[in-house]
Amino acid sequence: MNILYVNKFFHLVGGVERYFLELDRLMRKKGHQTSLFYMQHPLNNRSKWQKYSVSQISFHDPGLTKRWRQLARLFYSIEARSKISALIEETSPDIVHLHTIYHHLSPSIILAVKKRNLPLIQNLGDYHLVSANYNLFHNGAICEISQGGKFYKAFFHRCVKNSYYYSLVESAEKYLQALLGWEKGLVDLFIVPSLFMKNKLLEYGLPENKITCLPHFIDTGKYKYSGRQGSYLLYFGRLSEEKGLKFLLEVMKELPQIKLKIAGTGPEEDNLKDFVRGHKLKNVTFLGFLEGQNLIKTIAGSLAVIVPSLWPEVFGMSVLEAYSLGKPVIAADSGALPELVKDNRTGFLFKTADKEDILEKIKFLLNQPALIKKMGKEALKIAGEDYSPELHYRKIMKIYGNFAAGKKLKGNFSPGKGFF
Ligand SMILES: [Zn+2]
Repeated sequence: MNILYVNKFFHLVGGVERYFLELDRLMRKKGHQTSLFYMQHPLNNRSKWQKYSVSQISFHDPGLTKRWRQLARLFYSIEARSKISALIEETSPDIVHLHTIYHHLSPSIILAVKKRNLPLIQNLGDYHLVSANYNLFHNGAICEISQGGKFYKAFFHRCVKNSYYYSLVESAEKYLQALLGWEKGLVDLFIVPSLFMKNKLLEYGLPENKITCLPHFIDTGKYKYSGRQGSYLLYFGRLSEEKGLKFLLEVMKELPQIKLKIAGTGPEEDNLKDFVRGHKLKNVTFLGFLEGQNLIKTIAGSLAVIVPSLWPEVFGMSVLEAYSLGKPVIAADSGALPELVKDNRTGFLFKTADKEDILEKIKFLLNQPALIKKMGKEALKIAGEDYSPELHYRKIMKIYGNFAAGKKLKGNFSPGKGFF
């Protein structure tokens, strides 16, 4: 099979990029041909598809002239459409699989793909298909104020970055897309990594036959499980408000007998460090950004991994990484996390943002080395069996095969007319 994979970034930014890169690697390993379409960036991996990549643009630049350029790019990129067309001409893919395309690539590429009648699949890694707000989280709480297509409410509520400007742009983008129906109408199938996300999209009105659930995968062979019990609690991931780190630090005030290590960077880093200094917390250490073997060693040295998210997580790769090293996970019961963490078997779930509940679970686990080991082994088994690359490959081939066999799924949405 010949597949064209599309994502705005071609370097590791978060879970979306990780899946984009690993899926491409898996498919090539299995003997399939793949090609890649993305935006230019100094951190990009080297690739023979570089000549088709679109020029770099940053949406953090506040300059007014650049803002006009940004807006044009966000709504419809002529460059992206023409370059993906040239790439399709060269590679003639059987199927096009999109990941995140918002802003940097724009939905113009969807029109290029559909003009050639190619099957089009999209993986969703956030809620932006149905909301101006990507993570349905705002001002310290879950925010679904624009549900029911009322995107203007996101503007008045400043749901995006607490800014009227960004909220206006994102809301306008959603109205335009709803009007044209490109994404919802022209994408043949949306793949989501959890049942939680599937149900959320159904709640927002997407038809069931347009959504399928396929969790991400992990190669446990790359993480050498030693069975050694570690000595500290660990959080690793982005340091942003919705990840619940501030809440976790409040919890650590009550647990002077145990250490917490925090690996990662993000917009909340300085605030969190100030909090630790201000409250004289001696049991919290910041490790900065870790990856590869350094991250693996840090997870391996932990007693358990904590995932205190406040937002409705769409998946939880950190849970699978912890499992691959035989570590139990104590996670909030938000979003997809209850699908990954088996309460009392591979760790514990606590009521999201409930300090008493998480304290009870941590204290209970601390004094039970045998239970920690047992849960870790069960976690490792689940990662290896339910989230293996082999199983993922079989499932995705089934999805691709349905299209290749001409059994295209019919959606209820009608595509925007006259835009070819
Ligand atoms: Zn809001």
